[in-house]
Amino acid sequence: MKYEFLLFDADHTLFDFNKSEYFALKSALDFYSLPSSDEVIEKYSEINVKYWKMLERGEIDKTSLRLARFEEFCDFYGFDRALAGPLADLYMENLAREAHLFDGALEMVAELSKKYRLFIITNGVKSTQDGRFGISPITKYFEKIFISEVIGAEKPSKVFFDAVESGIDGYTREKAIVIGDSLSSDIKGAINAGIDCIWFNPIKKEAPEGWNITYTVESFEEILDILK
Ligand SMILES: [Mg+2]
Repeated sequence: MKYEFLLFDADHTLFDFNKSEYFALKSALDFYSLPSSDEVIEKYSEINVKYWKMLERGEIDKTSLRLARFEEFCDFYGFDRALAGPLADLYMENLAREAHLFDGALEMVAELSKKYRLFIITNGVKSTQDGRFGISPITKYFEKIFISEVIGAEKPSKVFFDAVESGIDGYTREKAIVIGDSLSSDIKGAINAGIDCIWFNPIKKEAPEGWNITYTVESFEEILDILK
């Protein structure tokens, strides 16, 4: 067996983050009697993705991101900007209770845990991820969870992957593989760190040119097949 350590991304790979975000945001908007249609939530999501890309590029820190995305959201709809802070806080509180897994994620991880040592590598906020991992049945299959906020650096940075390396007993990068959906954080990070990777690409994005991506898959079945 070539690999021993599976480094799984969490959101959009195992967890259906869109679903968690949807319920957490809808409930926060409803609490403040603001419109909470699918269109409004979609707009927030678009703004949020933009800020996370900025974070990955090192253009903003996470503390600023939490508020800035809601300020931009409030500005866009003409909501009172003073609501941005309370909305952001309530959203984060709600999010810590939303831990929706993709269909088949639990079964896949249970199967892989029989043969491999499993780890989570996530660019998340500690309180949110602690809350969600705390209530998810998937958590028991993971030996350790690496959260960027705890490490003090985000994927794809070398600092993040160095912390993973030194945080796992017996780790060698030749025996590790990163499994994640994000090109800019998971796949770029794996390539930079010299680790093999499985790009989980169920939405069939076009692969970037010139990237040496070890495997690209569209389903959990394909992941199981590679790691069988
Ligand atoms: Mg992800």
